[in-house]
Amino acid sequence: METAEELRARGYRLTPQRLLVLEAIKGAGHLTAEQVLERVQPEYAMINAATIYRTLEWLKQTGLVAETDLGDGCRVYEFIAGHPHHHLTCLTCGRQIELPDELLDALRARIEREYGFALRADHMGLFGYCPECRERETPYRSPREGE
Ligand SMILES: [Zn+2]
Ligand SMILES: [Zn+2]
Repeated sequence: METAEELRARGYRLTPQRLLVLEAIKGAGHLTAEQVLERVQPEYAMINAATIYRTLEWLKQTGLVAETDLGDGCRVYEFIAGHPHHHLTCLTCGRQIELPDELLDALRARIEREYGFALRADHMGLFGYCPECRERETPYRSPREGE
């Protein structure tokens, strides 16, 4: 089903602003709120940053969009419906590796079992050191290594 149709079916009201933000972010990868604004403005010159932020907040609540800190000092938004995933970001070179969501299934199950907590983690940024950087520099040892 088309995203807009799906949202209407779920009872959401779709204003022109909401539709434009949705179109701007869908399939666009990671975008900052400013980049979303830049994409929407040519279509809707009257739109402002506050509206963009509000609309992105709303899209987050619908579960279609995730907001994540990927470590470059700004928060990015991504349309993740149908494609939940996570990112490993290297703290040294900034390289990113995409992780499939299934990797979290065991963690989710365990958190639910032990804490009764339903984890909502559809787009996580995890930080560390990539193989190349670990090779080049003093290897990072996790606190649990060598236990
Ligand atoms: Zn992503
Ligand atoms: Zn690296």
